[in-house]
Amino acid sequence: MRRQSKKRANRSRSAKARRENYRAEHGMKCMVCGSAGTDVHEISSGTAGRPLSEGEPATWLLACWRCNCGPLTDKLEWPVARQLALKFIADGKHFDLERFNACYTLGSVGMEDIRQWLTVR
Ligand SMILES: [Zn+2]
Repeated sequence: MRRQSKKRANRSRSAKARRENYRAEHGMKCMVCGSAGTDVHEISSGTAGRPLSEGEPATWLLACWRCNCGPLTDKLEWPVARQLALKFIADGKHFDLERFNACYTLGSVGMEDIRQWLTVR
């Protein structure tokens, strides 16, 4: 018995290729700490929208394994609005709040939520 349908397997292969392209496009560097970017972090992970965000770069950050499995999972330290602020700074090309919100099932994030994380040092 097949574990997943052919359609699902194809979709997952093409999502993997898009993620590899995304990593290359961003110089293989973690957007949080600058070390080797091994993981594509889904900002909307853990929500019912995960299947939607699988192939949607508007929901992605490039991260190292350590950041992806550590700080980025802590929603008190890295709330979704802060992650989107990082997205805005590090990957403005794929920053698209409308597309993000279409994949995000826990509410709707507005630019006013993100603005507080965009600070000038
Ligand atoms: Zn990192």
